[in-house]
Amino acid sequence: MTASQRYLSRLRDGRSVWLQGKIVEDLPSHPAFAGTIQTICALLALQDDPASQPSLTFSPPDTGKPANLAYLVPGSKEEVLQKETAYRIWSEKTFGMMSRLSDYSRSLLTGWYASRHVLGGSDGKFADKIDRYYRLSRDQDLFSTTALHDPQVDRSKLSSQFDDPHTHLRIVRETEDGIIVRGAKMIATGAPYYDEIFVYPFHRRPQSEARYATMFAVPVATKGVHIVCRESFASENAEDHPLSSRFDEMDAVVVFDDALIPWERVFIKDDPEAIWRLRQDPVAVALSQQPTVVRLLQKLEFVAAIGHELACTIGARQYLHVQEKLGELIIQAETIRALLLAARERAKPNQYGVWLPAVEPLTTARNLGSRYYPRALEIIQQIGAGGFLQVPSALAELNGPIGPFIQKYYRGAEVQAETRLKLFKLAWDLIGSPLASRHELYERFYSGDPVRTYASQYAGYDRQELIQTVWELAKSDAR
Ligand SMILES: Cc1cc2nc3c(=O)[nH]c(=O)nc-3n(C[C@H](O)[C@H](O)[C@H](O)COP(=O)(O)OP(=O)(O)OC[C@H]3O[C@@H](n4cnc5c(N)ncnc54)[C@H](O)[C@@H]3O)c2cc1C
Repeated sequence: MTASQRYLSRLRDGRSVWLQGKIVEDLPSHPAFAGTIQTICALLALQDDPASQPSLTFSPPDTGKPANLAYLVPGSKEEVLQKETAYRIWSEKTFGMMSRLSDYSRSLLTGWYASRHVLGGSDGKFADKIDRYYRLSRDQDLFSTTALHDPQVDRSKLSSQFDDPHTHLRIVRETEDGIIVRGAKMIATGAPYYDEIFVYPFHRRPQSEARYATMFAVPVATKGVHIVCRESFASENAEDHPLSSRFDEMDAVVVFDDALIPWERVFIKDDPEAIWRLRQDPVAVALSQQPTVVRLLQKLEFVAAIGHELACTIGARQYLHVQEKLGELIIQAETIRALLLAARERAKPNQYGVWLPAVEPLTTARNLGSRYYPRALEIIQQIGAGGFLQVPSALAELNGPIGPFIQKYYRGAEVQAETRLKLFKLAWDLIGSPLASRHELYERFYSGDPVRTYASQYAGYDRQELIQTVWELAKSDAR
């Protein structure tokens, strides 16, 4: 079986994926999922292809079988680059539009595995459990996602302050086989068509909230686990919606209705400080930020290219303010490229010999991305202006009864109507479609509330050197 055949067969496992009030019976053929699943299959085919396999996989010494490079614990600067290259190949194929291809969660897992001897709670079982789980995930090439946030019911309350203590996810009882959990978690992008979900709290919890501080991995097809999808933004019309037809990564809330999580999958239980150590683990943080920044760069380049083509197509490139805006798009992409390069060049081994890209440039890039992307979409709007609505409802109208009008009035500066319309349809899918709004929201929020991620970059920054120069000057003035 090929990798994509194995993936498709795993999707037919009786999972409870809810859309429009019904369980989706067959994900690969359902219009809301088919395009995205086909995209994933095409990426998996690259892993099987002898030409691209060496760039996307490595051979773990214990199996010798090709495994996705996200699972590699880098032992040299070259391997840091090797991982980056693999992420770039998948990002290029998806124009940076697929943000949760599991490279993020697989990298988290790889980080926890690399740090397994210093993470975990007082039961001392973390290292063994994560070791086994890492190998399972790596060897079966499992796709995973995360569901880390409590449902947004009332953000002024602690989890324990709700009338129903299981509004936020919590253990109901413990049995010989494992823990029974009830409550909901959000937002698990890709959960409907991935294999596994990592669940733990994103924010630091006080000790008094220990019952809400458990970490586990759950197969999507677990009894009592319901994947509740948002409305689908997928389109079956690839001609008019080239992005929505291929790249709608479904977002979902995960509802746990007394689901059993076996002990071997419960990595940390009722331990806020152990979870917080895991959240801050430098290996998991560095490894997981690398793919997100690679993807961001790809997406910003894609937007810059579309901006340039739009300006050329409507003859607006000559205007200075348009060039200034196109320059801003290039500056965005080049800034992120430079930060990625800095992260790689400043890569260092930690005390256990794991080579890590430098985190500061990666965090800077990720934080900039939450402001760059909405601004990039704004620039595309300013360049395309009313032209986004100077499009017929379907490309097929080019050949219909009013085709001659469309050929005449919808053409570009130096291109036929068909070329101009294809470009504008693509650009609209990027900035104006439901998928586009979702992407803007994603870039603002995917790595946390930007207010708190900026503040946390400041709080965690080594300010000693900065401060020193100020006081050197201030003291010398005083003399
Ligand atoms: C498209 C998309 C995909 C996502 N995919 C995933 C995923 O795959 N896995 C996953 O785990 N998460 C995912 N997320 C969730 C994402 O991490 C969160 O949206 C983000 O961390 C913000 O949390 P929230 O949405 O709960 O916002 P809230 O925390 O509810 O914030 C709402 C507003 O209240 C303010 N606020 C709330 N509490 C505080 C506070 N204590 N201090 C200051 N201000 C506060 C915020 O600043 C904000 O303005 C995704 C989100 C989006 C939009």
